Amino acid sequence: CGIVGYIGNSDAKEPLLSGLEKLEYRGYDSAGIALRNEQGTYVFKEQGRIATLRTSVDQDVMASVGIGHTRWATHGVPSKRNAHPHQSESGRFTLVHNGVIENADSLKQAYLVGVPFASDTDTEVIVQLIARLVEEDGLQTEEAVRQALSLMKGSYAIALLDEEDAETIFVAKNKSPLLIGVGEGVNVISSDAMAMLQVTDQFLEIEDGELVLVHRDAVTIKSPDGVIQERSPYQAELDA
Ligand code: GLU
Repeated sequence: CGIVGYIGNSDAKEPLLSGLEKLEYRGYDSAGIALRNEQGTYVFKEQGRIATLRTSVDQDVMASVGIGHTRWATHGVPSKRNAHPHQSESGRFTLVHNGVIENADSLKQAYLVGVPFASDTDTEVIVQLIARLVEEDGLQTEEAVRQALSLMKGSYAIALLDEEDAETIFVAKNKSPLLIGVGEGVNVISSDAMAMLQVTDQFLEIEDGELVLVHRDAVTIKSPDGVIQERSPYQAELDA
């Protein structure tokens, strides 16, 4: 299982797909990407290998923002329906997730009664919860993500797109690997630096519980209580 993300100055499809191919060694039963442009968010997902996903991605969709995922199922069978990315009922929020949300069922019962679910994954609970906190409780997306993180128990690496914010990928982790790659006018997300060396060899480590706002020209890391953290990138090995 693995995660990639791209926000930059050229088309996101190839860095996302070839990044996912490099993460296939981590295990996969399905894969998907979401591409974000001025027209909206486009999700492509398939059961099986990245090669299968590749053939199903519409090459005419041009987008400079996107996220991608290879899945190793824990909640719900391997299938196209359970493949990531998952979206909120409204379609506003799009999420990829590695790991296991141990309290997914109780979060669903506490916050999401009556919400129609499109998959059997614990992941969809996260994206529906964030949507509820924004759309019903009136929180800003950043606050909603922070609140959702405080409610979630388990391991996760997540990357979230908000249809109303074309300039940000929201990122967080707990006990699952996730790195931010820093370039010139482009920033990326990856479970493993190796998968994004084609874009940059400069990577930032994220600590458990931090919330990271990844923009085209900036990366803002915040502690769980919202304080901005300064951090310098390290250089990843080019021969990895
Ligand atoms: N628990 C999630 C699922 O079953 C994520 C699995 C993964 O890490 O790929 O969909």
